[in-house]
Amino acid sequence: MNLIDPKTKSAFDFNEPIWQSPLGNLLDIDFKAQFNQELIHNRPPNLWRYREAIPIPLEVELVSLQEGFTPLLDLSFDGIRVGIKQEQLFSTGSYKDRGATVLMTQVKSLGIKKVIQDSSGNAGCAIAAYSALANIDCTIYLQKETSPNKIIQMESYGAHIQYIDGTREDVAAATILAAKFHYYASHSWNPFFMQGTKTFAYEVCEQLGWKAPDAVVLPGGNGTLLLGCYIGFKDLMAAGIIQKLPKLIAVQAANCAPLFVEWNKGKVSIQPNGETTLAEGIAIANPIRLSQMLESVEETKGMVLTVTEEEIAETWRECGKKGFYIEPTSAATIAGLKQYLKNHTTETVISLFSGSGLKSSDKNKKML
Ligand SMILES: *Cc1c(COP(=O)(O)O)cnc(C)c1O
Repeated sequence: MNLIDPKTKSAFDFNEPIWQSPLGNLLDIDFKAQFNQELIHNRPPNLWRYREAIPIPLEVELVSLQEGFTPLLDLSFDGIRVGIKQEQLFSTGSYKDRGATVLMTQVKSLGIKKVIQDSSGNAGCAIAAYSALANIDCTIYLQKETSPNKIIQMESYGAHIQYIDGTREDVAAATILAAKFHYYASHSWNPFFMQGTKTFAYEVCEQLGWKAPDAVVLPGGNGTLLLGCYIGFKDLMAAGIIQKLPKLIAVQAANCAPLFVEWNKGKVSIQPNGETTLAEGIAIANPIRLSQMLESVEETKGMVLTVTEEEIAETWRECGKKGFYIEPTSAATIAGLKQYLKNHTTETVISLFSGSGLKSSDKNKKML
């Protein structure tokens, strides 16, 4: 079990309190996930049932709210049946809790007393909540435009809020500077986060009777769930549980689509029109793991789809009429799912409601 710089192949001790390599590169985790189906079935329905597949030594005390194993509902969009994971049901209201429970468990076991994080909202809420649970001091760097309900939520967990003037990228830059002095519990940089989001793939597989779906339609912001699925399905394949990787389909807002441009090899250019997107959770212009996101789509023979602001709002209203109150970012993924289903009517397709609508009222109001 090692931290690995995928660029230079250098390995670092698993228990070094680092979130990037000394050269400033990304880190991944080299670890062989194991699955004992009988043990798994006999454990409570939360994501830690895959204990031997998560790179945290067995004796470590978990920072956990017994999260995960979200329902996989059989729903229908445009008359086509799909499985939708209810990721809005997590304690903090989004699937970010998957990454936070694993990352903050590692942080606590390293004896770290203070973390910083930057976020367009939900990752900050999750890191703040699990920091509170672990009794670790937490500061979240934010843009002023972040949904006020998300900020109140972070403050309720006792997190300190640091406002940064400027774009989402300015916030990221300010956090990187502060990370010279404090441990960066980043959902995009820190490889432990993806070791939590990968449990989404395990759950889907178990809920389908230990089978892989044909395709999974996912948000394409920083790609933490996309990359989690890539790692998770590869783990299942390496363990001989599934025989092929599902196609990973990433959805971006047309107003912010760096992966879509990359996937089209630069043949498609999107003129920045200066407009933002309702889907604040995927408005990431420079995702740090962009080349890994591309690899996950290409290796699985997936695709990248973009959705317009009208599609996002229309899909959000459609979900409301089905009884699901989700945030606009989540509606973007479902709008992409609807596009995908048009041409893939016979596949087993899985997607998700990524976050609850309860904390994005300010943005929801504009879509009514
Ligand atoms: C973070 C988030 C996303 C985007 O996920 P990435 O991992 O950044 O691609 C989508 N929906 C919700 C609700 C989120 O919180």
